[in-house]
Amino acid sequence: MRPGKVYLVGAGPGDPGLITCLGMKMIRDADVIIYDRLVSKELLDQARLDSIKVFAGKGMGESEKQDHINQLLLSYASEGKMVIRLKGGDPFVFGRGEEECIYLLQRGIQCEVVPGVTSALAVPASAGIPVTSRLASSGVTIVTAVRSNGEVLEAEYIPSKGTLVILMGVHVVDQLKRRLLEVRLPMEPVAVIEKGTLPEQRVFVDVLERLDQVVKENQVRAPAIFVVGEVVKMRDKLKFI
Ligand code: SAH
Repeated sequence: MRPGKVYLVGAGPGDPGLITCLGMKMIRDADVIIYDRLVSKELLDQARLDSIKVFAGKGMGESEKQDHINQLLLSYASEGKMVIRLKGGDPFVFGRGEEECIYLLQRGIQCEVVPGVTSALAVPASAGIPVTSRLASSGVTIVTAVRSNGEVLEAEYIPSKGTLVILMGVHVVDQLKRRLLEVRLPMEPVAVIEKGTLPEQRVFVDVLERLDQVVKENQVRAPAIFVVGEVVKMRDKLKFI
């Protein structure tokens, strides 16, 4: 039997319309779909009725979950199946897609990436915040609030100028705010965007020194993105929201 192949497919930031055409085709063709929590149900409804759909890693610890996913991918692909690993956003932006790909390639399984629209750029846009602008910021930095060792991001990753987009920050917001204030100014504008691109999207705009209060007062839950910088103010002028 010929071994199958694994496609790491980006599902986009939330709204099912924001998957790529190729990503959608892959979902329709797949024998097996192994999907994450942030993937919308509407996308899974596009799969073949006889396809196998597996929700990856319910009720497991992080490393246990990753081992389990790797083994699932390997075993289905070894059976000759076309396997889709469907991930929120883009598979290579804080998605561990590269780790899964390396694991499979090292075991002789073909693996390919179908890029996706990352929440890091699409979620600010859907909230009326351009991450760059000739009027306000010449660059954007995308960071995770927490490193893989559980530590809050080091100050060296935080630029003193330009737009900063922060993922996975809700549960460490106190420490994160303190770290940000080592580099950025207390009165800089900040936006908190919860469930971006989805009908339940909520957006809060304030100043950096109040980031933790904003999150707590509004009971913001993951998934949420924080945007720091002058571009946040442009939301007032972008009246499409
Ligand atoms: N690979 C994904 C990111 C995975 S990390 C991508 O490219 O988008 C998961 C984090 O992404 C969440 O904790 C949150 O910070 C952010 N995120 C993903 N979807 C989001 C959404 N719809 N709204 C707000 N934040 C989102």
